Amino acid sequence: MQTNISTKPVYTISTAARLLGISIPTLRMYETEGLIIPFKKSSKHRLFSDADLERIRCLRRALNGGKMGLESIRRMLAIIPCWAIIECTEKDRKNCEAFTSYDKPCWMHNHKDNVCRDRDCRECEVYNSFSDCSSLKEKFKELVPPKK
Ligand code: SF4
Repeated sequence: MQTNISTKPVYTISTAARLLGISIPTLRMYETEGLIIPFKKSSKHRLFSDADLERIRCLRRALNGGKMGLESIRRMLAIIPCWAIIECTEKDRKNCEAFTSYDKPCWMHNHKDNVCRDRDCRECEVYNSFSDCSSLKEKFKELVPPKK
């Protein structure tokens, strides 16, 4: 999990794209595909933090170096056990598509009748479990402790 990188949303989409060396449409596509959740101002403009930029760099390493496709990354994020991380109830799980499906991350589902309905996914520990290249693995290690 990230510790020192700022999560304060400060960069406009054009600045973020320039800092990352990618195009604005590519950044928008990552959002549409559910891989990132930029901060949305009331004007609907997007802002990005240093933590967002690091998350995107990690994604791009997986896409370009790891030869993974967007679909594979989305499915990988879909298996994050959000129910164990936020410890939701049996009733929440029954009413949650993220608990039963494997095609997209929990934050891409439309939660109408469970604990996630009013939660801010951008601030959630689940979304932030994958905030840089090592954090997802660290989260799994934390959830599955070694046998004594
Ligand atoms: S608040 Fe959002 S990111 Fe967190 S568990 Fe619920 S749907 Fe997933």
